[in-house]
Amino acid sequence: MTPGTYLAKRRHAAGLSIDDVAALVSTSPRLGEIDRRAWIDRIEKDVAAISPDVAAALADAFPISRRVLQQLIDLRSYGSGAVELPRICLDCGCTEFDACLDPLTGTACAWASEDLCTSCTGKDLPDAA
Ligand SMILES: [Zn+2]
Ligand SMILES: [Zn+2]
Repeated sequence: MTPGTYLAKRRHAAGLSIDDVAALVSTSPRLGEIDRRAWIDRIEKDVAAISPDVAAALADAFPISRRVLQQLIDLRSYGSGAVELPRICLDCGCTEFDACLDPLTGTACAWASEDLCTSCTGKDLPDAA
């Protein structure tokens, strides 16, 4: 998974549009909202660089693991031999560092399979307890 894909999945999981995030993040130098939207789009397409400042701004807008994000950035820069691969849900992008929380019980999700969390398998099986 690329850093941009990870951020896009986390944004989706938080129920936010690019417009929402553009309204939430502050940039320096301050960009207009249209520029900010284009900038977020470029980040999610892995065109724009993700500096620590950018990671911090995005982490304020929706839940991400900055540790996982950094792992993905390193992975992209140095290849899979150099970096420990983070375990990420392929559907929602959650990790053990920012698990999904059940809205009713507050219980964190677990791994249903190698790369899918229990809250995402639950979506496919609405009748399952
Ligand atoms: Zn998931
Ligand atoms: Zn999850």
